[in-house]
Amino acid sequence: RARDKGRNTYQIYAPSLNVAAYKLYTMEKDLRKSIAAKELFLVFQPRVEANTGKIVSAEALVRWEHSDWGVISPKEFIPLAEESGFISEIGDWVMEQVCMYIVRWEHKGLPSVPISINISAQSFLRNDWLAIIKKILNKSKVDPALIELEITESSLIHYQETISEGLQTLKALGVRIALDDFGTGYSSLSYLKDYPIDTIKIDKSFIDNIVDDVSDQTIISAVIQLAKGLKKRVVAEGVETAIQLEILKGYHCHEIQGYLFSKPLPDHEFQTVLQSKVLQPNSSNVLEENIL
Ligand code: C2E
Ligand code: MG
Ligand code: MG
Ligand code: MG
Repeated sequence: RARDKGRNTYQIYAPSLNVAAYKLYTMEKDLRKSIAAKELFLVFQPRVEANTGKIVSAEALVRWEHSDWGVISPKEFIPLAEESGFISEIGDWVMEQVCMYIVRWEHKGLPSVPISINISAQSFLRNDWLAIIKKILNKSKVDPALIELEITESSLIHYQETISEGLQTLKALGVRIALDDFGTGYSSLSYLKDYPIDTIKIDKSFIDNIVDDVSDQTIISAVIQLAKGLKKRVVAEGVETAIQLEILKGYHCHEIQGYLFSKPLPDHEFQTVLQSKVLQPNSSNVLEENIL
């Protein structure tokens, strides 16, 4: 009986498993070619001042347009890139692109705001990485203060020494450092003391339930107080509703990043938004169909 069941299960699931495995294999192979094939591109999600909606910075987020599959979410391909070690090449590419955009926007006379870049812990483990960052900054002549590097809290549990030294070097260059997805890793308060962190980004998972979960309310307001006491910027990620915004304003959260103000935007739309300087909260953004 058990064997029959096993055999049936095998017969039912084997084909789809093969398709999934094949897709994963192909995806990894294609991902390695994506930079040269010019299939990667960036979108920019504004970060606004909570009280005014003024655009104070933006996060660069990578997208991959595959020739057969269309636009693939980073939630799908970033883990694959992490696994295959390709992530640090993507990181270098993103850094170069961001500097290129900053220079272009400056030439057009657009207001200049700092741009955040997501950095994998793997980059810190490469001994040429800091030199590459320096080189990109020097070559592009971008003011390092216009670059903020985001590192996730969960990546800090490994290679603490290497990452800590790397962050000190980066700080000395003049770039800013943000702690991403705060609250989802092994939240250790000593990170906030030991690492040169300028900005704390509270993860969306805490914001999601802020309206009715008293524990999340308590945690968020405490994190905001803590960040302020330590003289760090604090950003709430994934804000989608006006009520969430009101609660966060009540806690005196500095900045908001979320669909309520804007989804990640392609370059030309981001330029328009930069030009306008201020965004209005608009909950219908959330419903808007947007593959980016
Ligand atoms: P993240 O760095 O925490 O980026 C924020 C993610 O939350 C983005 O998803 C953004 O589109 C999404 N988001 C922002 N506001 C809202 C909202 O109000 N509602 C909802 N539902 N989502 C919101 P995205 O672009 O899909 O990126 C997912 C993750 O992929 C990023 O999380 C980051 O960890 C990674 N990633 C993206 N680009 C890069 C990159 O260039 N390098 C590296 N290493 N990782 C990247
Ligand atoms: Mg991020
Ligand atoms: Mg985040
Ligand atoms: Mg995240």
